[in-house]
Amino acid sequence: MVKTCCVYKSNNQFNASTKEKGISFFRFPKDKRKRRTWIKAVNRDEWTPNDHSWICSEHFVQGWHGDDPEDENYAPTLFSYKQTVVNKEREQRVQCDLDPLIEENNKLREEINSLREELKRHKWSVDRIKDDDASTRFYTGLPSFAVFLWLYNFLASKASRMTFWMGEVNTSTTDKMRTATSTLPLIDQLFAVLMQRMQ
Ligand SMILES: [Zn+2]
Repeated sequence: MVKTCCVYKSNNQFNASTKEKGISFFRFPKDKRKRRTWIKAVNRDEWTPNDHSWICSEHFVQGWHGDDPEDENYAPTLFSYKQTVVNKEREQRVQCDLDPLIEENNKLREEINSLREELKRHKWSVDRIKDDDASTRFYTGLPSFAVFLWLYNFLASKASRMTFWMGEVNTSTTDKMRTATSTLPLIDQLFAVLMQRMQ
């Protein structure tokens, strides 16, 4: 009689192919407890193994079985047909969760953007060179913070008329307003411009 694995959808038979793959076939154990555990694991309807019942080594974690009930190798635990069901459930769950994930992702992206804005503000903040001539020289190339302030005051009077120049046709009222409501305070804008010039 051909040795055939009794596990649902296993279809492994003792032949040249399974031999080459190193698959072994085990009889059901004589030990009552172990035998019961195996039968339960195989989980076939109204079925009890007989002398011609075999199970292949593919269902055992280490490809062999041991006698320690605490060991993962005590009974068969790997069943490919169960695996498929689990995977399908997982796929469905992932699909259901996709929308909240995208939402979460967008939320995080927004947060990162606002943090980045804040960092930019901080980076360009005039506080970095305030009352510090060495830093002023380092970041702006101007000799002292007093000179920076003088330059600021000089330009501030002219800045109210400043616009983003995008060509005569394209420079709109909105652009002029944007200059006035820029995210950076004017003094920080000046610092930013001077700093960029240094880089
Ligand atoms: Zn099998």
